[in-house]
Amino acid sequence: MLLSIAVDGPAGSGKSTVAKAVADALHITYLDTGAMYRMVTLNIIRESIDLKDIDRIQKLLDNIVIEFRSDGLYLNGENVTEEIRNNVVANAVSGVAAIGIIRTKMVAMQQEIAKGQSIIMDGRDIGTHVLVNASHKFYLVASVEERAKRRMRDFQAQNIHMTLEELIRDIESRDEQDMNRDISPLRQAEDAILVDTTSMTIDEVIEYIIQEVRS
Ligand code: C5P
Repeated sequence: MLLSIAVDGPAGSGKSTVAKAVADALHITYLDTGAMYRMVTLNIIRESIDLKDIDRIQKLLDNIVIEFRSDGLYLNGENVTEEIRNNVVANAVSGVAAIGIIRTKMVAMQQEIAKGQSIIMDGRDIGTHVLVNASHKFYLVASVEERAKRRMRDFQAQNIHMTLEELIRDIESRDEQDMNRDISPLRQAEDAILVDTTSMTIDEVIEYIIQEVRS
């Protein structure tokens, strides 16, 4: 039987770290759907496209090439793995991800990738929209302070310095936009298991999900 695992939740809840580790443990494909929205955002920023200019956005979508290669994430043939994590992209991505034609294209790509293989995807609308019939659905949450602390540790490791207050503000703003947009807003699917990771280690979350999937 093919596995399809949906992992959703707000910014910084540990989804991608957890989903990647579960994919490795179960030898299945991992798809980081947030990275796809980040790549579109980077493309739009570089082309200086106004978010109201739907014609130019459509043209960009018609030509965009998003690839997950073994050595990183490629946008139109260029490795952008690091650049899509920067703050300019992070602060713009929720506005971009609220645009209907962009979501339609990303969801179609995600569903195409999921066809015929076992997969774990993390994002905001996987359990509610992309993989409504997923075999397993998880919704990861954590307090905003804990999520900001995790982000801070990640950034410090990359020599990026932001205060906890700045990180809390950015996370809250992104959550607010993701939860209140018109199309596929972030919410827990009715059949998703809620996992509050605030006082769990990443390894505990990974172990919990693997056990649920195997049981
Ligand atoms: O997961 P990550 O934080 O990289 O996602 C970046 C942004 O992409 C989210 O804040 C959200 O606006 C958007 N996103 C989305 N739907 C998904 C994945 C991400 O709208 N499935």
